[in-house]
Amino acid sequence: MNTPPEFALALPDLARWRAGNTGVDGVWRFESGQAGPRVAITALIHGNEVCGAWAASELLAWLHDGVSLLRGELTVALCNLQAFDRFDPQQADASRFVEEDLNRQWSVERLASGSTVERRRAAELLPWLQDADALVDLHSMHEQGSALLMAGPLARNTEFARELGIGGHVVVDAGHADGTRLRDFGRFGDPEGSARSLLIECGYHGDPASRRVAHDAVYRLLTSTGLVSPSSLPAGWRLDQARAKWALVVTDAVVAQSMSFRFARCFEDLECLPTRGTVIAHDQGEAIVTPYDSCVLVMPSLRQLRPGVTVVRFARRKELR
Ligand SMILES: [Zn+2]
Repeated sequence: MNTPPEFALALPDLARWRAGNTGVDGVWRFESGQAGPRVAITALIHGNEVCGAWAASELLAWLHDGVSLLRGELTVALCNLQAFDRFDPQQADASRFVEEDLNRQWSVERLASGSTVERRRAAELLPWLQDADALVDLHSMHEQGSALLMAGPLARNTEFARELGIGGHVVVDAGHADGTRLRDFGRFGDPEGSARSLLIECGYHGDPASRRVAHDAVYRLLTSTGLVSPSSLPAGWRLDQARAKWALVVTDAVVAQSMSFRFARCFEDLECLPTRGTVIAHDQGEAIVTPYDSCVLVMPSLRQLRPGVTVVRFARRKELR
């Protein structure tokens, strides 16, 4: 689990898309002039997660080649370009961020503080993202695994994931102890609101298949919201696969307390451990055990091991109807 799999996905050339058309680097806004939903696609929130940068840049090329919106407005944001610029395939994890994780800075206090590269960048991005009615945030994972649709705790976002019809698993989770994700911030996290958001883990960072999952997500988002007609997008972007059948309801996030955290063995993503009390790890001499029977391990990884970082989540399986 400590040696990263091969990084076989090439980097997209983002030179043409860096400036944006909004006055903010990497942020593009397209308006149809017709009433309709405000849709946002975010990529590169983590600088080494390039599948989303592929899909976003290819979408931008299509939009510049004359594909026009039928209704509503679309924002496409390449979020952490400074981290992406440091990408080295030999040390892919090192370019996740410059100073701190951009997907933990979405709180009023952190956005206002301006104390790091990522907090300043989040504050720049916010005005272009906060009013979206539908947000899809494209990510990838530290380890090999099928796509995960991180829906957060609100039922409307599990429904959003189902409506889009993307394959993989829906994960119902509350996020991270060390900071708020974009997909949970503001209107997106308001229990009384209607704005919908989904973070999609498209597979392993370096797996070329992750780019196809990102294409599929973009295709389904733009066609299901009615912004683009299906015939205007590349037909190959839509993957023909069964929609997610299971929701994994996260009950606990295991957070490393120390650098001595170690898994008891190598666990696969979404491995289901049948018996309650199974030891999965040790940290500072304490055993960490599964809290119930049929416990699913979501995204076990030590790649970013630091005290305070989530290293695995425990989840119960629930069939989606
Ligand atoms: Zn990510």
